[in-house]
Amino acid sequence: MSGIGARLEAVHARITAACARAGRRPGDVTLLAVSKLKPAQLIREAHALGLRDFGENYAQELRDKAAELADLEGLRWHAIGPLQTNKAKYVAKVAHAFHALDRLEVAQELSRRRTGAPLRCFLEVNVGGEATKGGVAPQEARALFEQVRALPNLELVGLMCLPPPGPTAEASRASFQQLRALAQELGLPGLSMGTTGDFEVAIEEGATHVRVGTALFGER
Ligand SMILES: *Cc1c(COP(=O)(O)O)cnc(C)c1O
Repeated sequence: MSGIGARLEAVHARITAACARAGRRPGDVTLLAVSKLKPAQLIREAHALGLRDFGENYAQELRDKAAELADLEGLRWHAIGPLQTNKAKYVAKVAHAFHALDRLEVAQELSRRRTGAPLRCFLEVNVGGEATKGGVAPQEARALFEQVRALPNLELVGLMCLPPPGPTAEASRASFQQLRALAQELGLPGLSMGTTGDFEVAIEEGATHVRVGTALFGER
């Protein structure tokens, strides 16, 4: 046994408690199970327990898992990692949403390759101003937003961030507040923020999608 049942219950309880503190409804927060580097069998188990939204970082791993798990009803794939233009086709083909859009070239390629329903996209914002991390600088977000909005097969639904690692969950709060303010300015409803270390704080600050890997599937 993987122990995922008990872990999922614990994560649900923490989401419910954070929502209660914030006066929000648990149904307004989507739990995205981050399954990168974990075997497809574990995703099957999680799906059997009712999870439907899964996050993957690497385009080829996403392509392979989507093929292997094509029989699972209602499963939605979320691509959450940095994407190179030459791999955009894999995401365009199978993803329900892309959370790490930070360059026009990738957006153009995704739009060109997408068929069917528009690909839901979150613009990734580099809230910490870290040189090593992806994401558009906050002051450049509006320009990218306007350019992406003009593309036909993408639907901009929100903003995403991965704050710099801090000593405590509280250390992420200012980043989450900054992301929420920016989303409000742009009129975007979605906020993809919060991971194992800080998802409760993210929910208190308005997260609509939390991306949780380790708390559900264990260390990678
Ligand atoms: C790996 C990853 C996560 C999940 O992180 P955990 O700490 O395992 O919950 C969330 N978001 C992104 C962008 C990631 O790369």
